[in-house]
Amino acid sequence: MASQAARSQTFPVKRNTLKGVPGQHTDTAPALQITGLTKSYSGRRVVDDLTLTAERGHITSVLGPNGAGKTTTIESCEGLRVPDSGTIRVLGLDPHTDSAALRSQVGVMLQDGGLPTGVNGKTMLTHVARLYSNPWPINDLIERLGLSAFLTTSVRRLSGGQRQRIALAAALIGRPRLVFLDEPSAGMDPQSRHAVWDLIRALREQGTSIVLTTHLMDEAEALSDRVIIIDHGTVIAHGSPAELTAHDTSILTVTTDRAIDHKAATAATGLNITPSTHQSETFTVTGDITPATLITLTQWAGTSNTLITHVSIGTRTLEDVFLDITGRNLR
Ligand code: ADP
Repeated sequence: MASQAARSQTFPVKRNTLKGVPGQHTDTAPALQITGLTKSYSGRRVVDDLTLTAERGHITSVLGPNGAGKTTTIESCEGLRVPDSGTIRVLGLDPHTDSAALRSQVGVMLQDGGLPTGVNGKTMLTHVARLYSNPWPINDLIERLGLSAFLTTSVRRLSGGQRQRIALAAALIGRPRLVFLDEPSAGMDPQSRHAVWDLIRALREQGTSIVLTTHLMDEAEALSDRVIIIDHGTVIAHGSPAELTAHDTSILTVTTDRAIDHKAATAATGLNITPSTHQSETFTVTGDITPATLITLTQWAGTSNTLITHVSIGTRTLEDVFLDITGRNLR
């Protein structure tokens, strides 16, 4: 991740850079369009010819293992890093040359640490609201995000989840057309998390475009219209959660008393057997799972003298897809 110092450059912003900025965006341009983005550090390419689009009014999630290049990419879109080559258009504008015009149209939710710690949430939100000519009513944000209990406590004393909620409110108060959210529900209890999710969905209903980076697969799955999976600095898969998980209607996860020979098991059963990447005694069967699949499986277990210790059936999740594609877990 980039240093918080670099990220906090966008925040807080000066009043006179916001009010009266003419809306130079084009309403037809995608929320975000990146073409052939490349960035190297010390000769090592960390973003490699990356191309992606986030549509207007959509929630687009960018997922990837640590070091995949997500932060470098998103911070280039926020104007915080300068790519080596490629083009970026944010609401049709260039994040560097059009930064003044974009400032009032783009909200950035900084990770924990981006907030000034000496003030309380109320002072800060009131200050930020004054920067905009038509801010979101503070009381509505306070209610939706459940901020009232800690609004007069200095940011320094807040928990990570409470800071995240204040940071989210600060990112939204100017009613941005596009908002970048980095791990928006990190460190939150389930209730706060759902309040944040509801607010993100409400934003989309109002036509706001949202670009989300998250480590939480269930968050991406629950919220996203489109998921973009990045690894080694490039896009390796994209689609709606339904499209990404649709290859197989179901997945059977089987655990045995010992590691099996997957090739031999596949040949013997005719089933689509894939070893688990993180547990040698577990494998999955994907495809059309029927009662006959279970009979085939138990017959194979009998003839190969394998004890099946656990079987579960479920739908393929985004996490399964992610593991398949990257061979790694997100955490
Ligand atoms: P992600 O957000 O997906 O974890 P990053 O974009 O933060 O990925 O980092 C991608 C790679 O670039 C990592 O290997 C990281 O160590 C490296 N990197 C990121 N920022 C810098 C920097 N300022 N200087 C040198 N290397 C960096």
